[in-house]
Amino acid sequence: MQQTELQQHNINKTQTQQQQFNTNQEKTNMKFAVKTWCKSGGARVGLLQLSSLGIEIETPALMLTTRKGLPAFISPDHLSFLPSPDSRLLQFSPMHFMECPDLKTISNIGGVHRLLGLQGYGFVAVPRDSILSLPEGSSSNKNGASFETPCGRFLVKPLEYMKMISSMKPDLWVSLADEVAASVTVKRNKASVDRTITWLDACISLKPSDGALFGSIVGGCSVEERTRCAQEVAKRNVSGYYIGGFGLGDSIDERSTYLHAVTDLLPKEKPRQVCGLGLPEEVLQGIAAGIDLFDSTYIYHLTLEGFALIFPLNDKCKHKHDSQLCAVTSDYTKINLKATIYRKDTSRIVEGCTCYTCQNHTKAYINHLLNVHEMLAQILLEIHNTHHYLSFFRLIREAITEGKFEEFRQNFIQNRRRHLLAASHSTYEQESPMR
Ligand SMILES: [Zn+2]
Repeated sequence: MQQTELQQHNINKTQTQQQQFNTNQEKTNMKFAVKTWCKSGGARVGLLQLSSLGIEIETPALMLTTRKGLPAFISPDHLSFLPSPDSRLLQFSPMHFMECPDLKTISNIGGVHRLLGLQGYGFVAVPRDSILSLPEGSSSNKNGASFETPCGRFLVKPLEYMKMISSMKPDLWVSLADEVAASVTVKRNKASVDRTITWLDACISLKPSDGALFGSIVGGCSVEERTRCAQEVAKRNVSGYYIGGFGLGDSIDERSTYLHAVTDLLPKEKPRQVCGLGLPEEVLQGIAAGIDLFDSTYIYHLTLEGFALIFPLNDKCKHKHDSQLCAVTSDYTKINLKATIYRKDTSRIVEGCTCYTCQNHTKAYINHLLNVHEMLAQILLEIHNTHHYLSFFRLIREAITEGKFEEFRQNFIQNRRRHLLAASHSTYEQESPMR
């Protein structure tokens, strides 16, 4: 009898692995399927479906990082200016809502979709972000994780966190993790893995009936601990995986090793998201390791500082690359529109760009808005930067589908290195009176 049950179990397991779409055992509207694999490396193109919202998003994808549910400089009516459905995944931290209506009120309203009036968007809850909810590992303890927020420092226990999730009703949510800096001791790093697994089990036992759970994986700068954490989380009934602990003092050169230590062990049919990778090179590095979802914190920081993305996306999109201008204001990927050089520049940020900003405004106008501290500058920049980065992700997906991802990645990195070298050489020539 036991043997028959075991055989049946193995048959079921095989059938599950062969399913094109991974419909998770828990009640969730999320489905995910990998459509194309890169022949070498882990890059893949997938399709994430949120059926109740009618959303289908191809991965690798960018989730728009938000403050309290909305991108920092974009109001709800401006969201329609962004490419759809690519822009319809919004990531938020429940900690952003600490000073908002209490949880019962948010629950009575119907969760974040109804609170924000955005019922055609998918919401992804991640405790930590890189803007307003920073993990404070030195203050975390065995009871809960600590976060530094604009409202102060909070210690959040799994039970409290799950009350937030139950009230906010996100479509996807990440389990509570003990994320620590790369510099912590071996003992502290091991404790962070133990706590993250314990808290995952607590989240699973308390989880609401809907919403897809992504299990958190940490382990800092230790292949052994990352492997241990990934193996433990992979045993749990989760819909996907969140790989945390990056962007906290770790080196980009070593990151591929830690990413692969995790992704090589995870079930291939479930989606993986990451936090702490934002630069184009970091995104390419993550995709090469098999990551599917990224946040857009990078765009937020660029926009805040007055930068516009300009790296070429195709033959139609060309930015005027003047070596002297680039040395001062550009690093191949972006330009600083605060620079006086753009004061009388009547060209678009990127000629051929179809975004609202480039269709209607010039660099000179945005330079003016930045100089007089007019918030419209950030609105226009955020629209362009988001549009540009979403297009970057689309090109990456096309490269993977065509079997040219590694070529795409190497070309991008080499072009950037070449440009940085030329820019530094040009700066040296300008600064050296002997030359
Ligand atoms: Zn544009």
